Amino acid sequence: MPGVLDATARADALRKLTAGPLDVLVIGGGVTGAGAALDAASRGLRVGLVEARDLAAGTSSRSSKLVHGGLRYLEQRDFKLVREALRERDLLVSKLAPHLVHPIPFLFPIYRKVIERPYVGAGLVIYDVMEGTRRPVPYHRHLTARSALRRAPSLKADRLAGAMVYYDAQVDDARHTVTVARTAAAHGAIVVTRASVVSLLRSGAAVTGAKVKDEETGRVFDVHAARVVVCAGVWSDLVHEASGVKAGYHVRMSKGVHIVVPGRAIDADTGMIVRTEKSVLFFIPWGERWIVGTTDTDFTGDPAEPVATAEDVDYILAAANRVLAKPLTRPDVLAVYAGLRPLVAEPEPAPASAAGTADGAEKAVPDKTAAARPTTKLSREHVVDAPLPGLTSIAGGKLTTYRLMAKDVIDAAVADFPRPVPPSVTEQLPLLGADGLPAVRAGARRLAEDYRVPVASVEHLISRYGALASEVLELVRADSSLGRTLAGGHPYLRAEVAYAVTHEGALHVEDVLARRVRLLIESPDAGASAVAEVAAIMGRLLGWGRRQRAQEARRYMELAEATTQAIRVPAGEPVGVRSRARHDQEPSVPVAVPALFPRGGLRPPGTPHTLRRCPPCCDSCRWLGVTSFTIGLQGIYLLSP
Ligand SMILES: Cc1cc2nc3c(=O)[nH]c(=O)nc-3n(C[C@H](O)[C@H](O)[C@H](O)COP(=O)(O)OP(=O)(O)OC[C@H]3O[C@@H](n4cnc5c(N)ncnc54)[C@H](O)[C@@H]3O)c2cc1C
Repeated sequence: MPGVLDATARADALRKLTAGPLDVLVIGGGVTGAGAALDAASRGLRVGLVEARDLAAGTSSRSSKLVHGGLRYLEQRDFKLVREALRERDLLVSKLAPHLVHPIPFLFPIYRKVIERPYVGAGLVIYDVMEGTRRPVPYHRHLTARSALRRAPSLKADRLAGAMVYYDAQVDDARHTVTVARTAAAHGAIVVTRASVVSLLRSGAAVTGAKVKDEETGRVFDVHAARVVVCAGVWSDLVHEASGVKAGYHVRMSKGVHIVVPGRAIDADTGMIVRTEKSVLFFIPWGERWIVGTTDTDFTGDPAEPVATAEDVDYILAAANRVLAKPLTRPDVLAVYAGLRPLVAEPEPAPASAAGTADGAEKAVPDKTAAARPTTKLSREHVVDAPLPGLTSIAGGKLTTYRLMAKDVIDAAVADFPRPVPPSVTEQLPLLGADGLPAVRAGARRLAEDYRVPVASVEHLISRYGALASEVLELVRADSSLGRTLAGGHPYLRAEVAYAVTHEGALHVEDVLARRVRLLIESPDAGASAVAEVAAIMGRLLGWGRRQRAQEARRYMELAEATTQAIRVPAGEPVGVRSRARHDQEPSVPVAVPALFPRGGLRPPGTPHTLRRCPPCCDSCRWLGVTSFTIGLQGIYLLSP
């Protein structure tokens, strides 16, 4: 079936990748790489994409999840970036991905009427004018202080002089990336995850492919391609250096942290954006929750799993509490996540054929002072480089402009291709699930009757998969137990887990709970109550035995524990991926692993205790056949044998 990434058929995909030379091999399955694969495949090229971990496992699942022009880039006079981004935003909302990208209002409170109202107002006029008159979102509006408080009663009333309301859009970033990759596959791209490029293949000066390691088996094999395109985000330098390539730019990593708080913690019917000393802080509605962030700090550690620190969390809380009447506190924080911006630090002039932005008119600008500049001041524009024949590389940019980035990097890659390559068609190419959306929405009740599931379940599926919702429902028709929601009161259906494996390429529990459904960042237990069930559903499809299911669940819980440390650790104490409790290493001493829950259940390390069922018991220990380890709503405990 076109556009299906079936994890059970991964061996076939690997075979195809090595079956013969490709036209284009894309390295990296973030939004940029997925976009590049789609751009190239939809021009009729034979395309392969290899991703070292999972689709969107890097920055593309850890963003603010906004598809926006970027109001603050106006202040930096980055007019071109804003104009391009607004255009892309509107294209996604109205045509390419209306099932995934939704307009949302933002309230911009003002505190100094005389200075701020004309200043912010003028900025929003430019924002509106740049977008033009054919627009899928309303124009901005001015509000009095009283109207602003009606829309956002949570704002402190004192000093509030009024507000502006303007519109941008939001997206589930990981779901969007997976959908772009699936759309590429629908146009013939071969997409393989957990396959990392260890080095580039060379013939003289030219790059002719890559040596790829299958991370599932350890096997290393060659993939030959006429063009190799590096879309490795913050890993770009590593990919270049591994093969001794001297690229025309370096990537500077900037860490951005967000916290997630429950909907009841903030009373407002609109998103909000407020100024901070260094940048801006967003309050972004996210289902029943709010995402609040972000930070912007230099990062030099391992890009694989950036973690938030307690200071990051406290910084965001303090910035939010400057404008909120009822302060947010640590116990309000359900989840926290960190991502790394791949900012271009030192672009050098690229060859005429290769450098460029959307309209191809501008070249990358040398910026030798960038290394010394705060990351908040670095441009979010992208840079394309062609350091060697056959090799093209891209970095920088934004999720919002991924389509333009993809077009630019493929234009550069095929500029000297031996046969004519048609221009990009992605402007006209809706992503999978977009076609027929209004009719699918209108038919929700009928679908519910046909598949014997509640209308609410169908609406939930349409909001996540658009017109592809019926594919998920087909799984429910084949096995009605998949129509139930996951354990722990989560809104996701069991069928979504199966679909993640059979249609969205999920190979591990982490892929499902962190990116296909978003329980890692949405649930106060980070999805712990569903982990055994998810492992069981995936295990049935992927042939996991009891041991592997237990291992998968344990690996996920380790990730969840590392991710949520910043909520539990007092400010000032180091936070990092600690050596996780391993019951095989420390069997004789009863150890209490810090509970996932910041509230309740936390015991001082070393306190002996006996196995007790957590109320309500998730039965993970029994499901997984693990006797010295249990996961529950009170946390994870290791127990003496
Ligand atoms: C905190 C934060 C907030 C943001 N908010 C927004 C926002 O609201 N709106 C917006 O438009 N943009 C936003 N951005 C920017 C946006 O998220 C990024 O520009 C975008 O996700 C980068 O995508 P990418 O594909 O270039 O990189 P990534 O998503 O990191 O993808 C690179 C991929 O390459 C893979 N890879 C690396 N090395 C190899 C190898 N050797 N072999 C195979 N694969 C490899 C990695 O595993 C990774 O999956 C934000 C960024 C951050 C950090």
